[in-house]
Amino acid sequence: MQIDAQNDAPRQAGPEDIQDRGLRLYNTLTRAKDDFRPIDPANVRMYACGPTVYDDAHIGNARPIIVFDTLFRVLRQLYGAAAVTYVRNITDVDDKINARAAERGVTIRDLTEVTARRFHADIRALGVLMPDQVNVEGEPPRFIEPRATEHIVEMRDLIGRLIARDIAYVAEDHVLFSVAAMGRKAGMPRYGALANRSLDEMLAGARVEVAPYKRDPMDFVLWKPSKENEPGWPSPGGIAVPGRPGWHIECSAMSWKHLIQGFAGRIACDPAEANVFDIHAGGIDLVFPHHEDEIAQSCCALDAPRMANYWLHNGFLQVEGQKMSKSLGNFVTIRDLLTSGKFGGPWAGPVIRWAMLETHYRQPIDWTEKRLARAQTELETIAGAIGALQGRFFGGCDITLRRWIADLDQAPPAPFLGFLMDDLNTPGAIGWVRGLIGRMASDLEAAGQVIRALSFLGLVSRQTPLALAAPLGCGQFSPETGMFGFSMSRIWRTAHVNGDARLLESTREELARKKIAIETDANGLVSFRSEADDDPALARVNALVAARADARARKDWAEADRIRDELAAMGAVVKDTKDGGVSIEWVAGK
Ligand SMILES: [Zn+2]
Repeated sequence: MQIDAQNDAPRQAGPEDIQDRGLRLYNTLTRAKDDFRPIDPANVRMYACGPTVYDDAHIGNARPIIVFDTLFRVLRQLYGAAAVTYVRNITDVDDKINARAAERGVTIRDLTEVTARRFHADIRALGVLMPDQVNVEGEPPRFIEPRATEHIVEMRDLIGRLIARDIAYVAEDHVLFSVAAMGRKAGMPRYGALANRSLDEMLAGARVEVAPYKRDPMDFVLWKPSKENEPGWPSPGGIAVPGRPGWHIECSAMSWKHLIQGFAGRIACDPAEANVFDIHAGGIDLVFPHHEDEIAQSCCALDAPRMANYWLHNGFLQVEGQKMSKSLGNFVTIRDLLTSGKFGGPWAGPVIRWAMLETHYRQPIDWTEKRLARAQTELETIAGAIGALQGRFFGGCDITLRRWIADLDQAPPAPFLGFLMDDLNTPGAIGWVRGLIGRMASDLEAAGQVIRALSFLGLVSRQTPLALAAPLGCGQFSPETGMFGFSMSRIWRTAHVNGDARLLESTREELARKKIAIETDANGLVSFRSEADDDPALARVNALVAARADARARKDWAEADRIRDELAAMGAVVKDTKDGGVSIEWVAGK
């Protein structure tokens, strides 16, 4: 199973490489659950369509991010961390971006920078692996997050090729892709094969823009002229005015650049099979036209019979039984869930992640407060069980903590991984974990398996405080943090409910020793306050909070927001309270 990936040169496939590792994935292209066989097991390549950064990502955007992050983890487990390359793009040129920037009176660059930063802080809180956690200095990057505006050259190259091959044409300063020309070219897939639709159906189903410069209504835009106040670049095809790309071409360009060109320099089209990568993923709403058009562009430009071998699509997300829309007032962003009470929250990142993975990725998901509350109760039960285990077996934590931190690095339990290898059966995997919860409090082995499974799913990590480690003096963690990002007060209450007097007593003593005060308000809510002033993490947070208050006082909202984002990136979510103060909630994953 160990794969030597010391260099990127293609290797001769040996018997071990050919042997598949038992992963099966539902492939939209074949409409069947296929055995996954990578083109080169030493270089498994996956592309997922990322967000358009014009506004905070909503919970529907979070679904593919979480789902394909989980698949990335499975691939790394099966093929080795150095053998899997994952590309998830950021769309930073788009009509919606132009409109939003104009509306807010900010530059497009500023809008996309700030939105991308907020997006990163949001998904980091959801336990999504980030490039800085994956990439190793001095080695080729294994997680690339390319931006469309940084790949205009590649887009122009592809468009130039399509024009040279008579697949695309120039009309009124636009470049259009001709679906009919694709149909005449030998060896190309049928346009509509991925969506499994006929041309007539696509014409009827798509909101086809009937523009006078199109030769055929099915033709789609590869490049369009920019108006004066819009971003523009030198145009391909001899067009004199500056222009900008259509949406679809960016994914063809970025996947080509990072998943084809980067591997043994296979830029030429010979052999054409070398221009295919393994997995292309995205939401089900992208199948047509976005993915269909990506395939058309990539195959016709690169002479490839397919763009990617496996096409994965996650199902729709509804909110409380209704389609999410701004007009219905049920629009929920990731940030709303993490930081506000808008949807019954705030909810810890792992609660959101667990709630998302509870449903199989291809099924539609109904996102409800009830679902989140149930996920929270389950994770609280697990955190409580770990606390109880700790108190019962050791009366202290050093041994268990070290053991659990070691568990984080262990392979996931085999039966658990077996579920995930069956088309990412996360409900099955979570069900398997549930079956162990009842045994955790008396069975160290079961507890270790749960930790390994949760670690694999991205619910706990080396950076995430483990259970009651902090108050018991085992970690460097802030007293306000707890397992799964629950505040300590929450875990304290769980210990209360479980009636574990011994644990409560030892925790209280330890907290006192660490100069951490336990405060109970009139409603019985418990909070913790550090009286020690030598905690460097707390000191830094306090300094930033003070700086933010200053910025707000002088009405420098941009700076105040920047500091809030910086705090969020550290895991400290700042909320302004009604009385003019601030409260800080720690989220997991930092
Ligand atoms: Zn795409």
